[in-house]
Amino acid sequence: MDAWQNLTARVAELDALAGASATLDWDQQTYMPPKAADTRGTQTALLQRLYHERFTAPEFGDWLSELESRELDGTQRAAVRLHRRRYDRAVKLPSSLVSALSIARTEGFHAWAAAKEADDFNRFAPKLQRILDLTREQAAALGEGAAHPYDALLEDYDPGSTVADLRPMFDRLGVEIGKFLGAIEGRPHPEPLGLRLDVEGQARLSQRVVRDLGFDMEGGRLDRSAHPFTTGLGVGDVRLTTRYFEDDVLSGLGSTIHEAGHGMYEQGLPANLAGTGLNQAAGMGLHESQSRFWENFVGRSLPWFRYLAPRLGAIWPEREFSPERLYAAANRVQRTLVRVEADEATYNLHIIVRFGLELATLEGQLQAVDLPAAWDEAYRRVVGVVAPSARLGVLQDVHWSSGLFGYFPSYTIGNLYAASFAQKMLADIPAFWSLVERGDFAPILGWLRTHVHEKGSRSDAVDIFREVAGNRDPVEDLVSHLWSRHGALYGVSRS
Ligand SMILES: [Zn+2]
Repeated sequence: MDAWQNLTARVAELDALAGASATLDWDQQTYMPPKAADTRGTQTALLQRLYHERFTAPEFGDWLSELESRELDGTQRAAVRLHRRRYDRAVKLPSSLVSALSIARTEGFHAWAAAKEADDFNRFAPKLQRILDLTREQAAALGEGAAHPYDALLEDYDPGSTVADLRPMFDRLGVEIGKFLGAIEGRPHPEPLGLRLDVEGQARLSQRVVRDLGFDMEGGRLDRSAHPFTTGLGVGDVRLTTRYFEDDVLSGLGSTIHEAGHGMYEQGLPANLAGTGLNQAAGMGLHESQSRFWENFVGRSLPWFRYLAPRLGAIWPEREFSPERLYAAANRVQRTLVRVEADEATYNLHIIVRFGLELATLEGQLQAVDLPAAWDEAYRRVVGVVAPSARLGVLQDVHWSSGLFGYFPSYTIGNLYAASFAQKMLADIPAFWSLVERGDFAPILGWLRTHVHEKGSRSDAVDIFREVAGNRDPVEDLVSHLWSRHGALYGVSRS
């Protein structure tokens, strides 16, 4: 066997191990009985250890070195580049640091859950400090030559993104959203729906909607879980989960559409590149652009609700559904405390706060104990609200307790990419909104397949974005979308 055959055989093996782990994890979050927790922990840990050993084995590095000294075709070059980056990162970290981080994350998660329950940040502070110290060590070990220590962390979630690129975009976005919120201040809000719909009916609606959007049910499933997520278990198997609230049909539906967007991306990745590692998403931000595009740009539009209203009427024939009322209710804008409940306009402010705090902690300006006050100050300044409790403030998200520093920006990167993809698509598909209204989503999904999904991870997300969007300005695209959609509902226009 030559080095390329060895490499692809090993990558196929790694994919199988990762798929098995993901299957166990999906099961844990959907159907696993509670008493199985310990057994499942053992199984998952074993699979992860096998994965790590097979990935970081010296021969993997030897195959890469051999291939780097050879004449390669385009696919091989892209694959070698991808695995070289991952391999170097994996072997750069001392195993003592890897295991210390793993322990700190497990302890951190439990401490965070208890602190949130008790609404007492002090219970979490020492564990968070430990995670911070180790994360700084990790960034230093990985980030040799990087302009900012945070760049090394971004690499895990959004390869190719840097603080130097993100900071000015996030700053501008914050200022522009602030101007918009200032303009609608004091204007009457659209009415909330105030609708109660049984969850069984909502589940039927969601199954219908994901099929209509183009998610292939022969290669996937939609189930329920406490926290909606999507996971690709391997070629031909993509799992979506969602949740339903009797008094908030739009929330459950939004989660369903969001996850279907992730799922359709997974299903559209180039299956013919299995074994190369290139049949994977190019980054979390690009992944999020797919979910946000469907959830927000399509799924909160008036044509969408014109498509949806008769489907609602088919399930609840005794009720009346007005597309205009649904549309208005789906686009209420409010300064609120909790990220996951935020509307399309204010959502990014929550990310801007976290990005700023994460940079300051990585730079050593903030320690764990400083975070509650820094959080409140940033929320007052950026979002315009202050949490009455740590539970609704600094303790609201799980990410830091699990050591996921560098993850939050993906959400806003996704919104930015989605905004420019949408504008590009409107130019390429002039019938866009009438297709949405008719529920004919295939041409829209086809556009995403060609321009995004089929590229897999041949290039970095930021390069895929540039190939598609040219020199469009994603901040301007997002901001002008907010003004045109929400501004119209609030009766304000951009001056
Ligand atoms: Zn998502």
